[in-house]
Amino acid sequence: VKFVYDFTEGNKDLKDLLGGKGANLAEMTNLGLPVPPGFTITTEACKTYLDSGEEPAELRDEVSAHLDALEAKMGKKLGQADNPLLVSVRSGAKFSMPGMMDTVLNIGLSDKSVQGLAKQAGDDRFAWDSYRRLIQMFGKTVLGVDGELFEDALDAAKAAKKVTVDTELEAADLKKLVTKFKKIVKTEAGRDFPQDPREQMDLAIKAVFDSWNGDRAKLYRRQERIPHDLGTAVNVCSMVFGNLGPDSGTGVAFTRDPASGHQGVYGDYLQNAQGEDVVAGIRNTVPLAELERIDKKSYDQLMQIMETLENHYKDLCDIEFTIERGQLWMLQTRVGKRTAGAAFRIATQLVDQGLIDEAEALTRVNGAQLAQLMFPRFDDSAKVEQVGRGIAASPGAAVGKAVFDSYTAVKWSRSGEKVILIRRETNPDDLDGMIAAEGILTSRGGKTSHAAVVARGMGKTCVCGAEELEVDTKRRRMTVPGGHVVEEGDVVSIDGSSGKVYLGEVPVVPSPVVEYFEGRMHPGADDADELVEAVHRMMAFADRKRRLRVRANADNAEDALRARRFGAQGIGLCRTEHMFLGDRRELVERLILADTEAEREESLKGLLPLQKQDFVELFEAMDGLPVTIRLLDPPLHEFLPDITELSVRVALAESRQEPHENELRLLQAVHRLHEQNPMLGLRGVRLGLVIPGLFTMQVRAIAEAAAERKAAKGDPRAEIMIPLVGTVQELEIVREEADKVIAEVEEATGTSLKLSIGTMIELPRAALTAGQIAEAAQFFSFGTNDLTQTVWGFSRDDVEASFFTAYLEKGIFGVSPFETIDKDGVGSLVKLAAKAGRETRPDLKLGVCGEHGGDPESVHFFHEVGLDYVSCSPFRIPVARLEAGRAAV
Ligand code: ADP
Ligand code: MG
Ligand code: MG
Repeated sequence: VKFVYDFTEGNKDLKDLLGGKGANLAEMTNLGLPVPPGFTITTEACKTYLDSGEEPAELRDEVSAHLDALEAKMGKKLGQADNPLLVSVRSGAKFSMPGMMDTVLNIGLSDKSVQGLAKQAGDDRFAWDSYRRLIQMFGKTVLGVDGELFEDALDAAKAAKKVTVDTELEAADLKKLVTKFKKIVKTEAGRDFPQDPREQMDLAIKAVFDSWNGDRAKLYRRQERIPHDLGTAVNVCSMVFGNLGPDSGTGVAFTRDPASGHQGVYGDYLQNAQGEDVVAGIRNTVPLAELERIDKKSYDQLMQIMETLENHYKDLCDIEFTIERGQLWMLQTRVGKRTAGAAFRIATQLVDQGLIDEAEALTRVNGAQLAQLMFPRFDDSAKVEQVGRGIAASPGAAVGKAVFDSYTAVKWSRSGEKVILIRRETNPDDLDGMIAAEGILTSRGGKTSHAAVVARGMGKTCVCGAEELEVDTKRRRMTVPGGHVVEEGDVVSIDGSSGKVYLGEVPVVPSPVVEYFEGRMHPGADDADELVEAVHRMMAFADRKRRLRVRANADNAEDALRARRFGAQGIGLCRTEHMFLGDRRELVERLILADTEAEREESLKGLLPLQKQDFVELFEAMDGLPVTIRLLDPPLHEFLPDITELSVRVALAESRQEPHENELRLLQAVHRLHEQNPMLGLRGVRLGLVIPGLFTMQVRAIAEAAAERKAAKGDPRAEIMIPLVGTVQELEIVREEADKVIAEVEEATGTSLKLSIGTMIELPRAALTAGQIAEAAQFFSFGTNDLTQTVWGFSRDDVEASFFTAYLEKGIFGVSPFETIDKDGVGSLVKLAAKAGRETRPDLKLGVCGEHGGDPESVHFFHEVGLDYVSCSPFRIPVARLEAGRAAV
């Protein structure tokens, strides 16, 4: 194997091997841009070193050979006393990673060569400044000396001289500082600062390798799901000097504004400075535009190079450069990070410039960015009082009254108050409160804490781990830094996108992107800003590209209409249980309690017109588009009062000798219906088979509603969906009854309804016998929530709170399988069932209606396995459309 590549040998596509920095240095070199010569040690070398604990012998030889070549090219030798070559040793993994070793500049300087450098440059001050920087950086990053010690010594030197900036220190001061720094190294590291230049270089290279396994780097990789076995590359780059006087300097720039995408000159420049000085904020930088005045020739060349880079990478780039005595050098470039809004704008700008096509544009944005743009935000212009900052765990802007327990959260929200649930950390008992709250704030825990995981799952704003806040749940208060006390009922505002916590009400403004989807803002109109225009166009690109259709999970006309505005092509899941709540509960209770056939029929008769009306409204809202209605699914006890509450009521009535016959009957029913594992109990199709008339009532309501819409010249397209089927026999029985009812309605109304009947695939057995089930089903809808529960044997309502946090922390999965589909397990059942189903019935319609329908990664999977549509909550529809488009690129 080859462990070392000269900059002339690599290219930008070799990031795996050369790391991002090395690959792009090579690319720029080959574009003919002025890059100081150098070479890159591969990630393979790093891996070999980390595996064996020592540098492979070949690596040493290859480095020597490349160093020889570099020395020959530069006409100097590394650290040579009279005319030294100096290099930087720079880390550079495939992904840029905080926690990795920083760069060491000026390697090759020693007590001897510092004199040579001074003579060579004709500048004493410069040479000693470079030397002290080397000892400082090397001491800190390679030898592990506390950096503050150097900083303090530097400050002391400035103070002694009564100057404020380092450029005011003269050669003699810096010389003294070097002596001081060497002493610090000796005491702290227990060794002398190495005078042998090759030893300096080798130690720095090893330190870069070792930093791959530093704690912070490891933690970062786990959080960002970057594999641990990639290793890092190391770049050895000949030094150019920005600290050679006023005609030298260093800077950073973007080829366009990373916040808005606008073209222009964005960057910072610092005269007479080296590398990190710009970011470190040691002296004030000037805007890049100033460079035009300082050094017109370099400025013009830089503008030219920036254009070359944009045209070459066809994207926004960020760059690092240095000017050495009027000569411009490029030290780094990469495709630059940008805000979500800029990603959309830049993608469309590049299309307009003819640099990329629509398909490529779709790869430049993603659903997570779009989702981020859809959250309401705090008004930027508002005056705010920030009191803390935690981890931005789940985006959004939430305002409400502080409450410190779940019970109060529920109580207050029932009476119409908006609340923020504040806890030290949350646990499963807080679930009701979390649902009731506008947002959740905790003072403990990270991105995988209970609060964070659950809030993200619910799409609820959450800031967690805001450690400066002292939460006292017993006394229902929170103390913020500075001692101010927030009592229960005081208003607070939290920003789940930035992690900031504010006192009082910060005004919230709706996202312009949502205003656009809602039809309240129009692209091209005067008030439409560029962002809306860009989103509008990207959605059109996605819609043109995608094969997957996108439907909504919606139970009422209001949601259905919003879903349509957001681009839904039908309803993929209408849950009928929501139609059994509220004032209809009584009817449902009576149905469950019915002792006689007559009683049961009575209550079903009461429910029929109500259900029918629901469907009429839904069909009207979704006129012309398919509406999949799931017959009743949840266990019946969910419609009955809570057992404890009921027991208390009965006991109370008894002691007061009040009549309580009804409560008693209810309590008996609750006991009768109690199940150890309701999730695996009497629910779904089992209800239909056990409670006579229930499913047929629902089917009749659907059929009559469809007939009514037809009579009104509407175009209802109902699809009846049977939940929790495990075997084709269940489906056959239900179908037979349903077909009969439909035929009756058709005859009575004289219309042909063309209702289709299908099933959910949400049990492993259903997936495994999908070929048989397809004989009785006109469509399958994968219920991936239940399928995930049953395939893993997890109860969704319990695990997220109990052991998921531990699982996520241990890396057993990077993301909850309820959030992103588990492709290997659950996904392979989906694949198998889709295939078997279509073998039986080639025109079988396939969709998915679990939460995964709106998850970007899962959407790509469903596209790949050939489903016809995904269904998700109305708010996720734009994300699903965009990702479906991206999946098809
Ligand atoms: P990072 O990944 O932290 O940006 P870099 O390797 O890019 O680290 O280097 C840190 C700073 O040192 C940057 O400003 C870079 O431009 C500068 N630098 C790196 N190598 C050289 C060199 N050979 N000559 C001059 N400056 C350099
Ligand atoms: Mg850099
Ligand atoms: Mg289900």
